[in-house]
Amino acid sequence: PAVIQVRNLTFSYDDVAVLQDISVDLAFGQSVAILGPNGSGKSTFLRCLNGLLQPDGGDVLVDGLSTANAALVADIRRRVGLLFQNPDEQIVSALVDSDIAFGLENLGYPHEEIVSRVDEALVRFQLQTHRNRSTHALSGGERQRLALAGVWAMRPRFLLLDEPTALLDPKAGLESLDLLFALPGDGVTPVIVTHEADAAARADRVIVLREGRIVEDGPSGAVLSNASRLTL
Ligand code: ADP
Ligand code: MG
Repeated sequence: PAVIQVRNLTFSYDDVAVLQDISVDLAFGQSVAILGPNGSGKSTFLRCLNGLLQPDGGDVLVDGLSTANAALVADIRRRVGLLFQNPDEQIVSALVDSDIAFGLENLGYPHEEIVSRVDEALVRFQLQTHRNRSTHALSGGERQRLALAGVWAMRPRFLLLDEPTALLDPKAGLESLDLLFALPGDGVTPVIVTHEADAAARADRVIVLREGRIVEDGPSGAVLSNASRLTL
């Protein structure tokens, strides 16, 4: 099974250490929520997991592939997807179904495979009735589901989400989040950075960062019930 192994990871912007000696394994099939105060290094940590940033010290291995090896980064990005905070940055096509197909076409999948994956993603994220609509005509919640569907269709082993605010919008949001967390066995393991306890509670495991270090790590129920030590 797929795994992300983080070994003594340190990362600095210029001379300022932002991640300090982090060691942790993320396992395929175990969803994770990452909590922590602003500036604690959550976004930097996510970017290290898919090779957008390379460690200054230590290693990040995705299925044994080191993010420090530039030749492996494309392969690593296929295994570890990242959903941007704003769905508009992810939506590139004029029509809903072609937008979901876009990433698959770039990866060179055969036509029949693309068609079947697009159909599956439309169903999974409840967009069937919108498949031939203009992406501009969608509501905020629908746009977020479309962005999710496009990344999900590429079947990354892990899907990183950095404070996806539209997913957490009380009206449209938690429904989309539930769609993502509903089927842990469907081949995509979510790893979400959030400030929302409601969202974190949907994950199997909660990791808390503070000043670039992991200060809590355990089953979500246990970590979240220890609210006095969270103080977000
Ligand atoms: P979080 O996502 O938990 O708010 P970040 O990973 O964004 O934390 O940032 C961690 C620290 O690194 C903060 O002190 C932030 O100001 C700093 N930082 C983030 N991005 C940059 C950057 N591109 N250049 C310099 N410092 C940065
Ligand atoms: Mg952040």
